[in-house]
Order: sequence, then structure tokens, then C-alpha cells
Amino acid sequence: MEKEELKRRCIEAIDKRKEDIIRLGEKVYRNPELGYKEFETTKCMEEAFASLGLKTVSPIAYTGCKASAGGKEKPVVAVMGELDSVVCPEHEDCAVNGNMHACGHNVQLANLYGCAAGLVESGVIKELPGLVEFIAIPAEECVDFDYRDKLIEEGKIEFYGGKQEYLLRGGMDNIDMILQCHMMEVDGGRKCCTVNTDTDGFISKNVKFIGRASHAGAAPHAGINAVNMAQLALNNINALRETFREEDMVRVSAIITSGGELVNVVPSTVTMQVMVRAATVEAMTEASEKVGRALKAGALAIGGKVEIRDQIGYLPLSTDHALSALYRENMIAYGGADEDSFVELYKTAGSTDLGDMSQLVPCMHVWSSGITGGLHSKDFKIRDFEKAYILPAKMLALTVIDLLYEDAGKAKEIIEAYKPKFTKETYVKYMKEHSAVELFDGSAI
Ligand SMILES: [Zn+2]
Ligand SMILES: [Zn+2]
Repeated sequence: MEKEELKRRCIEAIDKRKEDIIRLGEKVYRNPELGYKEFETTKCMEEAFASLGLKTVSPIAYTGCKASAGGKEKPVVAVMGELDSVVCPEHEDCAVNGNMHACGHNVQLANLYGCAAGLVESGVIKELPGLVEFIAIPAEECVDFDYRDKLIEEGKIEFYGGKQEYLLRGGMDNIDMILQCHMMEVDGGRKCCTVNTDTDGFISKNVKFIGRASHAGAAPHAGINAVNMAQLALNNINALRETFREEDMVRVSAIITSGGELVNVVPSTVTMQVMVRAATVEAMTEASEKVGRALKAGALAIGGKVEIRDQIGYLPLSTDHALSALYRENMIAYGGADEDSFVELYKTAGSTDLGDMSQLVPCMHVWSSGITGGLHSKDFKIRDFEKAYILPAKMLALTVIDLLYEDAGKAKEIIEAYKPKFTKETYVKYMKEHSAVELFDGSAI
């Protein structure tokens, strides 16, 4: 069958399911759950996949589920939708606990289901080689740390990010590429989508300066002042800023989370949180080492100790332009867009765990429209159901057709051209090496 005919059938099948797609998106919207707590949302997706006659694997990464369709084992194209919400108690639609889908992940799930419906119910999937995995993935938002730390302590998960956890459990072993859409108001609603995205990655540092308490008036000489250590460390970090290259988009943010108890006691403990962001793995690693040095230098000068607990966050994202170009072309041919409808590249110091995946396989991450208001804010609103829920579902499905049509020539071309930064093994090693605790004793030098 001609490619255009396959696409036409797919669009038709999605249009037939329009009401179900929107209903699913709205149902998830009304029951927002935070990362690794998406038990109801997972169930919802299991039911949605089952309604298409697809067998579902669940859970896949503590929560989450996936369904597959297609015959041959290779290549494997994964379409992902994220399950988790954020917290936005100021939003008029938030749940009693403040949870709210103010990042539009409910829309992603509706898109995922719509894409599956289009490919499966049209029969198009049978005409294509390869395999398509529809993955409802948990925990993209890096929040709710106490809960996740508890899960880690209990051995239920190892990583904060759902995609990271899925990869660790072998979910990514067979996957050749990932397609995903996210929501954003693009250029004040004037553009229809953002085609490519580069994001920063980040490493968090939980820092504890340990000194010695003494009477601040009578015996300051007997104390080791932890506030002074922290203050010097912050100055050291600031002195490093001129060494960060523009193109690396390094950001170092620091807050003091506790800074002493009584003013007449030399403070013995000060805790800080530091976040180091950068646009490449190399820049992130280098900046993190510099910041580590700056913290230790603070402790060294005063003769105290510093405990630095590194926790790797997400790795930088760099989307695959050849992959996104297919979505873009489909937007022009079937989505009512023209050449001026796009923001071609969005560079941000924000982060997502799709970044980690993009270090191993080609990833598409398109920001689609249909919403207004800032992400995670009280103004976030789905304004246009057709643009938000339906259009990306169609475009994802059409992109899958482009990839797999005619012996998956396009998919193979993209796989061939892609240069991975990590294998699964080197990735896990990097993650573990950069999630470590170091105690530096400045009094010993
Ligand atoms: Zn999001
Ligand atoms: Zn978000």
C-alpha cells in the first residue's frame, strides 16, 4: 500500500476515536498523581491499551505500563507518554492534595493512546515492519524527594527519573529510538510547535559543613565556624563563574537550608543545597568538580569538615534533528502548518529525563500547542482540545509510518547516523559514580 494511503487510514482511525482520546486525557487530568505514585493513572492506561486489544506489561518501572504492536522485532520505535503530575495548589483545578497536571502529561497519555489507536485500528501496523512500543512512563518531574529517597532506601527504585529506572531494568535494551510530545505555549500561541530541544543536565549536591560549637562571645577561638565555611564556599563558587563557557550554559544555584541555631554560639553545622546544570555531560562533570573544590576550599580555610552528597539528576537532552524533521514534515502535509509555523530549536537550562535516553538512542521531543499559560503555573490551561489531544496523536502515528515504511529505511538511516555517548553499562556506571558521598576533612591538612 502507498505511504499516503496508510497515513490517510491512520488519521481516519484516530478521528473515529476522538471522543475516547479526549475522555482519557480529561480523566487523567482529574486524578493527578506524583511520580512513582501513578497507580491509578497506570491502571487507566492499561484499560486504554486493552480497549485496543493490546497486551500490556505492567508495572514497568515501579509504576507505568507498556503495550506493543507489530510483527518483526527490529527496529523498535518507542512512543512515550509521561504519567506524573506536578504540585500546583494555586491552580483552580488542582486536587485536594495540591497535585495538578500543570505540565500537560495527561495530554501526552491521550496522544499516546491516540497514536496506538491510529496505527492498530486502521490495520496500518500490519503493513509495516518492526515493532512499536507504546510506553506510559512514570516520574519525569524531579520532585517529592523524600518519598523517592524512601523508595530507594527500601530498594524499590534506584533512580529518581522514571525513564532512568526503566532503562536500568532493561526496558530500553531493545529500543532503537523514542518519540515524545510535550506541551508548551509556543511563541505566545503564534507558532504550532517547537521542533527540536536542547536542555541542560544537572547534578545536585547536598552539602553539610561540620565545625565545632563554642561561645561566640567568650570563646570564639575555640570554635570552628560552619557559617564562615559556607560563606567562603559561596564566594569560591562565584569566583568560578567567569570560567564557565557561554555555550555550556552552566548554572550553579545554591541555597542555605540551615545556618545555625543561636547567635551567641559559633555555628557547628550549616547545610546547603547546590544544583549544577550544564548543556553537555562533559561540562556538567567539570563544573560539578569545580564546585566540589570550592566547597572543600571553604572547609579547608576554616579547618572544618564538609560532607558532599552528590546525586545525579538528569543528563542533557539533545534531540535528533532527522527524527524531528519527519514530524515537522507531517505537520505541514497533514497538520495545517506552513514553513513559518515552527520554532526550530529551543535551548533551555531546564531538564528532563528524556535527556538520559538521548545519550543512548535518537530521541524526538516536540513541544506541541493547544495550551495557554506557563508550565507548572496556576495559569496553565488546555485551550484547544483538537490541537492538544488529537493533532499530536496523529503526527506521532504518521512519524512512525515514515520511519517504518519500506523496510524501515528511514529508521535504519537515523540509527546509522546516530552516535551514542553511552552504552547501558557505561551509563549506569556514570550515574552511580556521580551519586556518591564524600567527606573532606579540612582540619587534617
Ligand atoms: Zn512535563
Ligand atoms: Zn514539567
